[in-house]
Amino acid sequence: MAQTTAPGAAQEELNPFKIAQRQFETAADYLNLDESTRQVLKNAKRQLVVSIPVRMDGGEVRVFEGYRVQHNIARGPAKGGIRFHPSVTLDEVKALASWMTWKCATVGIPYGGGKGGVICDPKSMSKGELERLTRRYAFEIAPIIGPDRDIPAPDVYTDEQTMAWIMDTISMVHGHTELGVVTGKPIALGGSQGRGEATARGCLYAVREACRVRGISLRDARVAIHGFGNAGANFARLVSAEDGARVVAIADSRAGVYNENGIGVQSALRHKAETGTIEGLANAAPIPRDEVLEVDCDILLPAALENSITLANVGRVRAPIIAELANGPVTPDSDRVLFDRGVFLIPDILANAGGVTVSYYEWVQDQYSYFWTEDRVRETLEQTMRDSFASVYATAERYRTDMRTGAYILAVGRVAEATRVRGIFP
Ligand code: GLU
Repeated sequence: MAQTTAPGAAQEELNPFKIAQRQFETAADYLNLDESTRQVLKNAKRQLVVSIPVRMDGGEVRVFEGYRVQHNIARGPAKGGIRFHPSVTLDEVKALASWMTWKCATVGIPYGGGKGGVICDPKSMSKGELERLTRRYAFEIAPIIGPDRDIPAPDVYTDEQTMAWIMDTISMVHGHTELGVVTGKPIALGGSQGRGEATARGCLYAVREACRVRGISLRDARVAIHGFGNAGANFARLVSAEDGARVVAIADSRAGVYNENGIGVQSALRHKAETGTIEGLANAAPIPRDEVLEVDCDILLPAALENSITLANVGRVRAPIIAELANGPVTPDSDRVLFDRGVFLIPDILANAGGVTVSYYEWVQDQYSYFWTEDRVRETLEQTMRDSFASVYATAERYRTDMRTGAYILAVGRVAEATRVRGIFP
């Protein structure tokens, strides 16, 4: 993430924001977008950098750096998660914010794109330290967030507890309960049914469509999952329980495991919950974590961080279908290699859009304080994902290009149109 070239692969650009801009430019070329509109859509509207002093359990104060970036608000308030991770950079948050703009436009929900991040190692912090960090970060970004301005949500190493602390902090500052200021909240606090598994469930709906297009059955299909956080773990659970697929390989941030006959997903989830890792899982062979990207399988889910598949390893990736459950896991140069090889790739801005889509339902429910059943959430999400997949697929076919470029053409076109009719202020 911080580095700019892949080891072993000469001169491949790995800066996520440069990658995001290149993906945008590709679509802008197809759309013949004028230079002025390109300038507006390429750059982040607002970037806030904050210092976050936190009293640690030992009594000393440590200062963390945090960011909130709003890339674009042409179609509605900024929307996007908050990431706590040691390798967060401002350019990474800018990339993630712009991917949110295109993601929300791809699935047609009325938001722009935003993202937040704090450079920290949450695994080495106590719950009290994390709460103080979260609350002070929320306070520092309070001037630019709000239900009508910018609505954060969970991302890597943040969860519904993090969102509850942010919601409480902002509510205390405002003097009244502000349900719609963040999404991904606990059900007890204005959260939505189905939000916890929404990223994975939305991706499953997209994968079902891809299998239909490719004429393969998900039943007994071999699935490899690289990343075992909220998205990866829920995907493993759903694809095995609901579609009868065989999860043959899993990696988390520490280890990889493999069993060609299928890993017991329930025992993997239990092992992870009990020990914090999938390392040492019974009935599966240990493999290096990045080899999970290269195992013989039918569907590969990169579900970890950016730049998992680069020129350095794309030649060894064997899956015919790839669904990007993470944001930015495949570099543009690898995209080209995979496309030329006939691999069907469902891009992040479609594949993982189920999370923000159900975040949108949560925000709508909070606005009118009327809550949906889980069935209604699932049905509406399924419809959105199927329709969006069909639109992206049709666009890719029409322009004779890959699914990522198809999604970008659709999304950039929608945001450019909103920008054009709004005009430039003043
Ligand atoms: N962090 C998630 C994403 O990258 C969810 C964002 C949201 O729900 O606002 O899409």
